[in-house]
Amino acid sequence: MLNLGHPSASWYAATAHALPPLPALDGETSADVCVVGAGYTGLGAALELASRGVSVVVLEAAQVGSGASGRNGGQVHAGQRNDQAWLEKTVGRDDAMALWKMSLDARSHLSALIAEHAIACDFTPGMIHARHKSGGEGEDLDHIEFMAARYGYHELEPIDEDALAEELGTGVYHGGTRDNGGGHLHPLNLALGLARAALARGATIHERSRARAWR
Ligand SMILES: Cc1cc2nc3c(=O)[nH]c(=O)nc-3n(C[C@H](O)[C@H](O)[C@H](O)COP(=O)(O)OP(=O)(O)OC[C@H]3O[C@@H](n4cnc5c(N)ncnc54)[C@H](O)[C@@H]3O)c2cc1C
Repeated sequence: MLNLGHPSASWYAATAHALPPLPALDGETSADVCVVGAGYTGLGAALELASRGVSVVVLEAAQVGSGASGRNGGQVHAGQRNDQAWLEKTVGRDDAMALWKMSLDARSHLSALIAEHAIACDFTPGMIHARHKSGGEGEDLDHIEFMAARYGYHELEPIDEDALAEELGTGVYHGGTRDNGGGHLHPLNLALGLARAALARGATIHERSRARAWR
């Protein structure tokens, strides 16, 4: 099991596809680019740079994926935290559209990375938004219709209380929506897979190597 520097070891850590040892930086090194942090952001940058032939060294204070990237919910969303109707009211239609498109681009990018580098991160399609209060079916249907009409998004469908109870094995929810365009993956194995891909393209990663200054 990986020690993620967290008092409670996670299921993700217990089921991780461990990397070969990535020794701490000892002495001096040089590269075209130094990336600080081996989460999705740093590993994605390192992979892209190494793929373009740029020499890159990643410094990770703890271990690959030991920040948010190895401990998150693993949910792959279409859209942002708040729904598109809220975003349109808040930032206007054009920016709401741009944010929607950005989320779809990110999802496509993720799928392409997983496929190209054969990252074993258990991506499973489908996401349920469950309602914990009764009522609200009408709002769900309005949302589904709004997303289809305005955004051409046809992946949402209503799910009733009984079907949801059967699917989730609990009767505490009152129905909701299923997003067939969403999904779930093993977040730590995604981070480890990105690291493996970056290493294969020639990047160097040093764990237990905290960046202390930059100039
Ligand atoms: C509880 C939780 C649940 C989440 N659930 C989801 C979800 O379901 N779906 C989703 O899409 N997103 C989710 N997120 C968001 C997602 O996890 C983050 O957006 C993403 O992991 C950020 O990646 P990162 O590489 O920017 O940061 P991190 O993964 O945190 O990586 C930063 C890395 O930098 C290292 N570091 C810091 N300082 C230094 C230094 N000085 N020198 C060297 N290394 C350093 C850290 O050790 C760490 O490994 C969730 C986040 C949290 C916290």
